[in-house]
Amino acid sequence: MQMATDDNLVDPSDACPLCSERRVDLLVWIDDDHVECTMCGTVYQPGSPHA
Ligand SMILES: [Zn+2]
Repeated sequence: MQMATDDNLVDPSDACPLCSERRVDLLVWIDDDHVECTMCGTVYQPGSPHA
């Protein structure tokens, strides 16, 4: 049995900026730099670039 854990959540810095969605199942990579939140439809660049 699988419990919901943080393993299924992205880092807070990678969460949807509009609705704060963090569930990986609902965040879809559309290219190398952009994620689409399927909850609200927002496309954004998660987190900050690796310095
Ligand atoms: Zn969202």
